[in-house]
This record gives sequence, C-alpha cells and structure tokens, in this order.
Amino acid sequence: MIIDDQHYDVIIVGTGAGGGTLAQKLAPSGKRILVLERGEAMPLGDQNINTVDIFQKQRYHAPENWYDEAGEPFTPQTKYTLGGNTKIYGAVLQRLRERDFEAVTLQTGVSPEWCVKYADFEPYYTQAEALYQVHGQAGSDPTDPPRSAPYPYPAADHPGIMAPILADLVRQGCHPYALPLSQSLRPEDPTGDAEIFGVEPALKCANLTLKTSALVTLVLTNPAGTAARGVQATIHGQVYIFTADLIVLAGGAVNSPVLLLKSANERHPQGLANGSGQVGRNLMKLQMTSIVQVTTEANPPAFSRSLGINDYYWGDRQFAYPMGHIENMGGVLQDAIFAESPPVLSLVTRLMPNAGLQQLATHSIAWWVMSEVLPDPANRVEIKKDKIQLYFTPNNTEAHDRLVYRWLDSLKEMEKHGSRFTRSQIHPRGQTPLPVVANQCGTCRMGTDPRTSVLDPHCRTHELDNLYVVDSSFFPSSSSLGPALTVIANALRVGDHLLQRLG
Ligand SMILES: Cc1cc2nc3c(=O)[nH]c(=O)nc-3n(C[C@H](O)[C@H](O)[C@H](O)COP(=O)(O)OP(=O)(O)OC[C@H]3O[C@@H](n4cnc5c(N)ncnc54)[C@H](O)[C@@H]3O)c2cc1C
Repeated sequence: MIIDDQHYDVIIVGTGAGGGTLAQKLAPSGKRILVLERGEAMPLGDQNINTVDIFQKQRYHAPENWYDEAGEPFTPQTKYTLGGNTKIYGAVLQRLRERDFEAVTLQTGVSPEWCVKYADFEPYYTQAEALYQVHGQAGSDPTDPPRSAPYPYPAADHPGIMAPILADLVRQGCHPYALPLSQSLRPEDPTGDAEIFGVEPALKCANLTLKTSALVTLVLTNPAGTAARGVQATIHGQVYIFTADLIVLAGGAVNSPVLLLKSANERHPQGLANGSGQVGRNLMKLQMTSIVQVTTEANPPAFSRSLGINDYYWGDRQFAYPMGHIENMGGVLQDAIFAESPPVLSLVTRLMPNAGLQQLATHSIAWWVMSEVLPDPANRVEIKKDKIQLYFTPNNTEAHDRLVYRWLDSLKEMEKHGSRFTRSQIHPRGQTPLPVVANQCGTCRMGTDPRTSVLDPHCRTHELDNLYVVDSSFFPSSSSLGPALTVIANALRVGDHLLQRLG
C-alpha cells in the first residue's frame, strides 16, 4: 500500500455531471484538489455513435456484474469514463418545475417536498445552462418555470421531419416546445458533457490533479468516526491512500451509496453516514417507454432530439394527477437506451418484414414517454457478500400507462391526417429494463431530518462533518424529467458552500 505524501484540501470521487462540474467550480480557488476517476477518457470513435453499431450488444455497459432481486447477474448500462454518463447521454438539460420541489400528490402517493426550493436553484440553473451551452427557447411550454436569464443560445431549428409534426401537434391543441440541449459547438464532438465543460477547464488549473483508472474502494474515517480522513483507491493494481480535509463523492446514485456501505467500520457498523439506515434506499429511475412510429417517407438515419411535450405533466381533465413528459428521441441509431429495448425491436421487425436496422432508422420516429416514480425504501441498492444488489419495482404505473395511451392517441390522430406515416395503427413499444439505470437517483436523499435523510441541505452527510455527496443520489423525488441539469446546478450550488468553507 502506498500512502500519498501530499495532503489535499478536497478529494472528488467521479467526474460525471456532479463531480466534473464541481471540479470546474473549485479549481480556480487555488486549493489542492485531487480528482479520482475509475475510468479513462472515452475514445472519440466510441462517442456519439449514430450507426447500427449502437445496437452492438451491451456497448455501453460497465464491465462488471450487478445482481437483481432474485440474485440474477446483469451488467448495468452505465459508463465508467471521464465525464461519466454524460459521455453517452441525450444532452437534454431541463430544469425541474417549481412544483417538483414541493409535495405533489401523485395517483399512488405523495412525491415529497424538497428542503431546498426552486428559487434556491434558479441562479444555479442559469449558471449551469451557461456552462453547458444549453440551446433552448423559453415560453412555449406552459409548465416552464420562471427564469432570470434567457437560454444562452437559441434553440436549433427542428430537423426536417419534426417540423411538420410540430405543426400537427399544435393543430391538436398541444404545446410542443424545443428541448433544451447542451451543444459543444465542436464538430468532432458536438454533444456538451462533463468532460468538455467540467474536467477540461478544471485541468487548466495546476492546483488540480486528476488520476484516472483510480477506483475508490473505501472512505476512511478518523478513529472517533466523526470525520472522513481520506480514501483508499486502487490504481493499476496498486493500493493507495489519499488524505484530504474534505471528501466529496460523485460516483453516481448506485456507486456512491455502495462506497458508503462498503466503508462500514466500528463506529459506523451499518456503513458510513447510515445511522438512519437510509443509505442506498429510495432508488428511483424514471419509468420510460419508447414508442416507434413508422414512416412511409424516408428520413435521415440520424437526427437530433428536438421536441418536448408537457401538456400532461400535471394531469389533464380526465386524470387529475401528474402523468409526465414526452420527447422525441431523435433517430433510433443515436439513443443508447433505445438500443437496450429488444422487445420493441422484435415488434418492429415483424412490422417491417425484411427490415434491417438501417431501414428502421430511415423510416421511423421514436418517442420517449417518461413518468415519475415515488421514492420507496424497498427500492434500494444493497451490498450482499460484497456484491451490488438492486431492488427496484416501479410504482405510479397507472399514470405512466395513461400517458402512453394519451400519446398513442395523438400519434394516431397525426397519422389520420398525413401521408407521412403508415396507417397500421400499430406502434411498437417497450419499457426500459432494470439494467438501464440511466436516470438513477435518490439513494442518499437530502433533507433536514437525520432520521429520514442522509444528506443535509448542503449535501453534507448528517453524520460526518466533512463528507459530501454531489451526484444524483441527493434527489428527494425524481420528477418526470431527466436529472442531469439538476445534478449540474446542485454541484455549482454545493460548490459555493464548499468555497466558503475552504475560506
Ligand atoms: C444513455 C443515457 C442517456 C441519458 N440522457 C439524459 C438526458 O438526455 N438528459 C438528462 O437529464 N439525463 C440523461 N441521462 C442521465 C444523466 O447522464 C445522469 O443523470 C448524470 O450523468 C448523473 O450524473 P452523476 O454525477 O450522478 O453520475 P455519472 O455521470 O454517472 O458520473 C459518475 C462518475 O463516477 C465515476 N465513479 C463511479 N464509482 C467510482 C469509484 N468507486 N471510484 C472512482 N470513480 C467512480 C464513474 O466512472 C463516473 O465517471 C442519460 C443517461 C444515460 C446512460
């Protein structure tokens, strides 16, 4: 074992939306910062895939097994790389709505209130949109929350096939809007992510050290168990100890609780910061159904996500509970999550005899229908015999099913009036399976009561004064929208607190 001589002010574990953004925020302070990332930089050729190669089995899966409730192994769709899952995400960066921060009654229970409100997040959402070069247009979505500044860049035009669809939806009385997207403006790597906007600028500061292929295996505490002292990491087979005044975990909503649970010691027998028994509980991942609409006209095999619909976000006249969000996923050759939905594909190939993926790609539009799940303590991440086990049963399912049927009705209405679509009235669809953990969140929930939450409002663990978590683990509720912008904004918010603390 090698004990690093250098003592750091801050250690950050992970370089995804949370860790990469925080590194960028803290680096200009001149403090000694160590960033530990288990992955390496992702080769450009593996990013932004938009060919049939995306369906290469388990292309974006971690090289390890997790286990389901029955103890069956699976490889999770999650990327261990510089920039974390933002290297393969859809780059749709949306603000939660004001009411998402309040207690909201869903059909099957109450989505809990956050201890920090939209007004607290708003300035950080604005900073996050500027940092990640979000292209969007405010005002057309009736659920848009108030904003203190316009989007930093205008939304791109809707790609060819989507423009008439937008007009059709407007005719139906819908309020489609331009999805806010992070764009790097680099032709070779167009999607904005945490490597480009977090890690790269952070590395310009000499006081920040990045170690890749550095798997953090334990968080170490002082003998009294009152503070974190450092971390143990394995780098190319060699075990290291690194020490720091502040430790920030940003390994994602599965790996951060796993680290806390694995770091159990005499003073914290149930795992670090887990006196409440809440670490790893309340795992949430959005209910996501993909729906394929087959077109008669050919369209380009790759086109970007562009269009969102929130008309049912808070419910409608027939169903007074929140249902969720809908967006077009772009060409089916671009979406790593869609590539994980084999039931949809087998239906599509039946519908399009002799159709290969290329044919599907040039004659389809795919949609995501996304709904909130409630935090449930039984949905959790656990360590069993050193293995990662996930328990997850979706809830709030009727609201999701209703949204799916609302959308199928809209598609059929669209198809009645246009020649662009087949009138088969069949729309292959499928829900994402357990290995798709894309929108994981909630496993170290933030709150003011140490009996029911793991983190305080600054995302500091209630039990260890200098231990923080800034990935999507902190979410008290999931909302129906992708979590990435809120993770980024929260990292900037917690970053301000840490800068104050560091003096
Ligand atoms: C295919 C896909 C599409 C998505 N599309 C969208 C979208 O369009 N919009 C949206 O809002 N969200 C989207 N998401 C979700 C979004 O990517 C995540 O919400 C976001 O990346 C979470 O940030 P994070 O910091 O919590 O974790 P991550 O981004 O997962 O980062 C965690 C980092 O920690 C590292 N790490 C983990 N454990 C350790 C350890 N023990 N030691 C060292 N390093 C460690 C990992 O390698 C990784 O770099 C998508 C996700 C996927 C997979």
